[in-house]
Amino acid sequence: MTSTNPAIELKDIRKSYGAAVAIDGVSLTVERGVFLTLLGPSGCGKSTLLRSIGGFVEPDSGKILVDGRDITHEPAFRRPVNMVFQDYALFPHMSVRRNIGFGCEMKNLDRAAIERRCDELLELIRLPQLGERMPDELSGGQRQRVALARALAPDPVSLLLDEPLGALDLKLRQEMQNELKAVQKRTGKTFVFVTHDQEEAMSMSDLVAVMNRGRIEQIASPREIYSRPATAFVAGFIGAANMLDAEVEGVDGDGIVLDIGGSRFRLPSSRLTSGRALRAGDAATVVIRPEQLAAGGRGQEQSLELQGRLEDVTFLGGRAHIRFVTATGQMILAEAPPSMADNVGDTVSFICGSNEMVVLAVDQK
Ligand code: ADP
Repeated sequence: MTSTNPAIELKDIRKSYGAAVAIDGVSLTVERGVFLTLLGPSGCGKSTLLRSIGGFVEPDSGKILVDGRDITHEPAFRRPVNMVFQDYALFPHMSVRRNIGFGCEMKNLDRAAIERRCDELLELIRLPQLGERMPDELSGGQRQRVALARALAPDPVSLLLDEPLGALDLKLRQEMQNELKAVQKRTGKTFVFVTHDQEEAMSMSDLVAVMNRGRIEQIASPREIYSRPATAFVAGFIGAANMLDAEVEGVDGDGIVLDIGGSRFRLPSSRLTSGRALRAGDAATVVIRPEQLAAGGRGQEQSLELQGRLEDVTFLGGRAHIRFVTATGQMILAEAPPSMADNVGDTVSFICGSNEMVVLAVDQK
């Protein structure tokens, strides 16, 4: 019978170090075959959460299930998950083949089965000729691929990868991102990957969980995270975002009427991405990505117009990044045609369609 259990389930995980809260109530379900990335700034709790799943950190409370089995109190070596660390942790006195086979030896497989598994894994990481090399005869990228193969050897339900590419230079890092993603696809394994690098997270993942102060603020596909951020933190952490203060004037059947810097503007209700409903009088934040602002001209009724004094222009070849300041003193980032470069000091005008922005409820503190 094939199991339909999710690969990993976390139920209200909490962990503090003294007075410092590292994980503040995280619940999460990771389906099989998914590449999930935990993304967030340094200190937000990514590693602590990953290590809790791996069995290297004991949560204060909460439950961890892998393949439907409660493993909250099992030691790391008995869990059907395996960790890959940044520093490879290969055994220096063992060949590549023996390093990879080590995971299987622990599982009491016979010699012939271990050899077959090693061959399979050497093929998978595209190093079939290097089985007899020692770790110090490999490049950094090759060592990381061997570490990956060794972690996959015992056929775990999930691999837990703690910033595994952090020590590599940029070019190698990009190569390894592709390699890692390809291995995940070929094996169909569930990968839980930790990084603080938003581009890495966006390019590799099926799902991204954005963490802040020990909580998950949003979990969604990279596209959704970018185009429909659910909190101001997510909007600001991933890509550039203009955030405009607004007040809710009223809410009707399918729209929200806002006062944005003195102008009245109506948005479809579908543009509200934070969970809580809005009511008249509430404070709200409107999020607009710089590339959603179009230079010049008057918009249609459905467009918000922003005007201001052009402050500076950065050329990027075919386009430019500009900044302007509105009458209410708000700095706005936008993309513009390079011809705008001559006009610093002038009044510029941009528009944004109501379907290209999102609106967030502002939490009352
Ligand atoms: P991240 O991986 O997102 O950088 P961590 O999970 O490493 O964050 O850390 C989360 C918080 O918990 C940080 O404030 C960190 O200082 C604290 N922390 C992590 N591990 C320990 C520890 N062993 N002892 C004390 N504090 C810790």
